[in-house]
Amino acid sequence: MSTTERPRILVVGGGYVGLYAARRILKKMRYGEATVTVVDPRSYMTYQPFLPETAAGSISPRHVVVPLRRVLPKAEVLTGRVTTIDQDRKVASVAPLVGEPYELPFDYLVVAMGAVSRTFPIPGLAENGIGMKGVEEAIGLRNHVLEQLDKADSTTDEEVRRRALTFVFVGGGFAGAETIGEVEDMARDAAKYYPNVRREDMRFVLVDAAPGILPEVGPKLGAYGLEHLKQRGIEVYLNTSMDSCVDGHVVLKNGFEADSNTIVWTAGVKPNPVLSEFGLPLGPKGHVDVDATMQVKGVGYAWAAGDNAQVPDLASDKDPAFCPPNAQHALRQAKVLGDNVISGMRGFPQSDYKHANKGAVAGLGLHKGVAMIVLGKTKIKLKGRLAWYMHRAYHGMAVPTWNRKIRVFADWTLGMFLKREVVSLGAMERPRGEFYEAAAPVTAAAQAKAKAAKESEGSEGKAKAEAGAKAS
Ligand SMILES: Cc1cc2nc3c(=O)[nH]c(=O)nc-3n(C[C@H](O)[C@H](O)[C@H](O)COP(=O)(O)OP(=O)(O)OC[C@H]3O[C@@H](n4cnc5c(N)ncnc54)[C@H](O)[C@@H]3O)c2cc1C
Repeated sequence: MSTTERPRILVVGGGYVGLYAARRILKKMRYGEATVTVVDPRSYMTYQPFLPETAAGSISPRHVVVPLRRVLPKAEVLTGRVTTIDQDRKVASVAPLVGEPYELPFDYLVVAMGAVSRTFPIPGLAENGIGMKGVEEAIGLRNHVLEQLDKADSTTDEEVRRRALTFVFVGGGFAGAETIGEVEDMARDAAKYYPNVRREDMRFVLVDAAPGILPEVGPKLGAYGLEHLKQRGIEVYLNTSMDSCVDGHVVLKNGFEADSNTIVWTAGVKPNPVLSEFGLPLGPKGHVDVDATMQVKGVGYAWAAGDNAQVPDLASDKDPAFCPPNAQHALRQAKVLGDNVISGMRGFPQSDYKHANKGAVAGLGLHKGVAMIVLGKTKIKLKGRLAWYMHRAYHGMAVPTWNRKIRVFADWTLGMFLKREVVSLGAMERPRGEFYEAAAPVTAAAQAKAKAAKESEGSEGKAKAEAGAKAS
């Protein structure tokens, strides 16, 4: 961290809002006007709408993340977690990757920490659930699913096989519906390489407490998406929730029960709970309470936007209405927020954020999707291959930086000509395991021998003692 005479603009979180707001501020700022410091526990921004395609192997994981230091060369990027903020002293506490926490003074504050998975106290969920918020989870899910096919193909135990081939997804919003659509497509396609696994042996289950799925694209297209998933053989249970999943035994409220090694949790998000340590006004659900300029209510030097803020939706007829947590709003809010920070620094008035919904697109596997495009007062609804092209075109252009856009389009183009990759790199999660066994065989063998000797000594002693007791 550099010490600076210039005012510091501290951006907490380098995700969608943090990255775009920092870029905007740096672009509009005069030379030497301020120091922009971005703090994030990850050194990269993740383009979350591509996580389902990453889990399916259609896009390389490296291409859905954007390295912060590379795209923000004029900012100070710190890899760490902001844990508390003292608003009286204007000082943030940062826990770096290693070493002691330190204090970071600031003059202006941008809060852009996004959301975390919303969970409930369901027995077994913490131990068995897989989230879908980061690229690590998408890679993990892909490896895990392919590993289940490896297991099912190589066992003679029917119970092990059934468990391995049962995949349960909880939550039917964007994240859940897109992920089950992509993963099911990939797994059933991969089945052709597994002689003992047939496509129909796999069981995919989608659960949601709501009466429909994909609320983001509206009821009609949501119903189409639902019908489409059902036609592909996915079992969908609506108006119900998961009661427990202890040891992978899934029990739903409606009486459904099944054993599964794969329980993917995508049942919504909630604002980052660390916000409660920031001393800022929060709304009833824990979002930072901001006005339409995204300035924190009553705090003239702080702004917040994206999934961690309740930004009034001025384009809505309802009052009060807040912008939904999505990438479309996050990107546009970040730009207005960046301008407002500059205006705030220079003592100029703030601008309101107002953006009418432009529609939504969702991919449900290769060549499958639903889309709703809003053109003025007309809503165009698309489904199938055309919607899927819209999905790819929209997100391909929305992913930040030309470098990433080109790489993503290259992945898709290669995917058209080459077969899908079906290799599971599960060992990636334990890369040192094999080397450890090779490097420490003597120690391991010696330890095993010593343990065996100790056990036999113990049992001999016990036998002698028992014999002695009997004799006396
Ligand atoms: C699987 C999935 C699919 C999605 N699909 C779509 C879609 O198709 N269309 C759409 O519009 N939206 C989609 N979304 C939603 C969209 O990605 C989010 O609305 C958007 O990323 C919100 O941006 P943000 O900047 O508020 O949060 P994020 O982009 O999540 O960024 C928050 C950042 O804060 C950092 N952070 C967290 N804690 C701390 C801390 N203590 N200190 C410092 N930094 C911290 C995080 O590491 C992260 O980098 C999807 C989301 C997911 C998970």
